[in-house]
Amino acid sequence: MDRIRAITFDAFGTIVDTGRGALLDVSDRIVRELGLGLSAEGFLERWDHYFFGIDHNPFLSLAEATEVSLAQAFRELGVDADPDPYVERLQREWMRAKAYPEVRGVLEALEGVPRAVVSNADDAMLREILERNRLRFDAVVTSEACRSYKPASVIFEVAMRELRASPAAVLHVGDSLDADVGGAKRLGMMAAWVNRTGERARAEGPVPDLTVRNLAELLPSLDSGPRR
Ligand SMILES: [Mg+2]
Repeated sequence: MDRIRAITFDAFGTIVDTGRGALLDVSDRIVRELGLGLSAEGFLERWDHYFFGIDHNPFLSLAEATEVSLAQAFRELGVDADPDPYVERLQREWMRAKAYPEVRGVLEALEGVPRAVVSNADDAMLREILERNRLRFDAVVTSEACRSYKPASVIFEVAMRELRASPAAVLHVGDSLDADVGGAKRLGMMAAWVNRTGERARAEGPVPDLTVRNLAELLPSLDSGPRR
């Protein structure tokens, strides 16, 4: 992969550790506290259905979309409950996100390679998480700032403009096959799938150029390229 001149990173589940686990924890709390007769996984599946079904016209921030979709899931299941406390709880979980142990070392090893975070996140929240974990990037590009979510192209395009790089020379690194790998590949970027949990690759759908268990595994593939 010696064409790589810049790297974009997803945030949650890629550089910081609050990914799907936080959603499952809150879903677990919801099914227990509200006495719903389904599993946390089952509830999250319905919540996701509404979250990913939002057309964002007009654009909703992550906090807004989370609340709207949760209210829709409650309605479908006939639950009379206020989504607010659960959304707040989820936001607190997100704010506690910690950098995976290898991340700072990898970013140091990549010194000199322009890098950006490209995240489906609200701006202030993500910047605070990065700051608290002392993670520095040349650009931080959020869905809230771009008013568009991955896998749509806008957010990637803004990042590439800020890094002054063209798609073919940029590697995007992320843990979502659809949002990260799919979104980046559609634009002609290279894509590395971060599969920390040993998830099985799908027979159909976006195919990454590289699959790694953590960010340290990226370094050998990048060695020939960017540091010149
Ligand atoms: Mg992610």
